[in-house]
Amino acid sequence: MNLDVTRDPQRKSWILAANHANCDFPIQNLPFGIFSDAANPSPRVGVALGDRIVDLSVLQQAGILTLAQPVFAQPRLNDFIALGRPAWREIRMQLSTLFEIADPVLRDATEVRRRALVPMAAATLHLPVEIPGYTDFYSSKEHATNVGSMFRDPKNALLPNWLEMPIGYNGRASSVVVSGTPVRRPNGQLKLPDQERPVLGACRKLDIELETGFIIGQGNRLGEPIKVEDAEAHIFGMVLLNDWSARDIQQWEYVPLGPFNAKSFATSISPWVVTLDALEPFRVGQPVQQPQPLAYLRHAGAHAFDIGLEVRLQPAGAAHACTLARTNFRHLYWTMAQQLAHHTVSGCNTRVGDLMGSGTISGPHADSFGSLLELTWNGQRPLQLKCGEADAAAETTSRSFIEDGDTLTLTGVCQGDGYRIGFGAVSATILPAHPLD
Ligand code: MN
Repeated sequence: MNLDVTRDPQRKSWILAANHANCDFPIQNLPFGIFSDAANPSPRVGVALGDRIVDLSVLQQAGILTLAQPVFAQPRLNDFIALGRPAWREIRMQLSTLFEIADPVLRDATEVRRRALVPMAAATLHLPVEIPGYTDFYSSKEHATNVGSMFRDPKNALLPNWLEMPIGYNGRASSVVVSGTPVRRPNGQLKLPDQERPVLGACRKLDIELETGFIIGQGNRLGEPIKVEDAEAHIFGMVLLNDWSARDIQQWEYVPLGPFNAKSFATSISPWVVTLDALEPFRVGQPVQQPQPLAYLRHAGAHAFDIGLEVRLQPAGAAHACTLARTNFRHLYWTMAQQLAHHTVSGCNTRVGDLMGSGTISGPHADSFGSLLELTWNGQRPLQLKCGEADAAAETTSRSFIEDGDTLTLTGVCQGDGYRIGFGAVSATILPAHPLD
């Protein structure tokens, strides 16, 4: 058994739902998360497979999954992640064997099997990791160019530092929430164009940022940078990330230290962490970097992944969601390895469970932009959305920014030959702002 066997596109599971070509969680994926259910309300470690969640704590207790450390009957992945990459790979290979269609060990162990397989539809998914720190980058050239064109100068859209390093800021880890958690529209200082002083009010330009995030699997000591060529070995896996943004609050507050309240009210992530081992077949080259970066940011080979991304909006009360944009992770100019090398070049330490956001991922076309700010050009060109089937009954809705009751959903899929590695979704509904006195 080696890792390549776990990624064989022909591999099938005796959990038949995992064999469907349009299933996000085939036996080649095996993403990790935290779940609970009515039978056992204690959150614990699970792996998504087809329409089931595999309860790793049950399999370990039964002696079917062998690992010395009792890390699965826990409400967070951190202790498992901290065991390191050999342990992640060992568990991946054991699970791939146990669920392979011809393997009888668990398939024929009726009693354990009944306890270990939980229907996903009946489970509650929790935040998969305790997140000590959250950093958000700004690594899409298309996104940075659009924003620079909008607010500064289309001829000099990128600031001089942008092509030299992955720009980032330290975000707020305390407000990272799992998919399904409602997001309340923030109040904040708004500087209205016809008034000299700001007012306190509900955000009027609430926006999404279509991003992915990676989870630190092995930290580094304070003062000891991670080299760019070593960086991927420090990454446990990836999630979808919606970096909610209050554009009007942001525009007034961001000079000179960057976003603060405009971003800190909520960040949503998907519940399943897809490992880099599962993503390996979808590795592709990153965009050509010109000028060539400084030596500490140079890495040979391919360091991007072909992950198709989509964002959908479902208005309150509507039967269907509308697609707002489709793009791909591979467009990102700076790679995850470069982000991590740059983050730690100062000696900054990272810790197991730290979350690193990619920055808004925009593609080259107007329908591949990862924010409403860009899709509507700061509200100047509202989107006309016709949700559902293209028939007369479908209602047309207009959007400049997000309205109360809207549900926003991001999805991500690596499309293979006859199967796919999916991320599931990150979704949230917007609640009205807290009333002000
Ligand atoms: Mn962001």
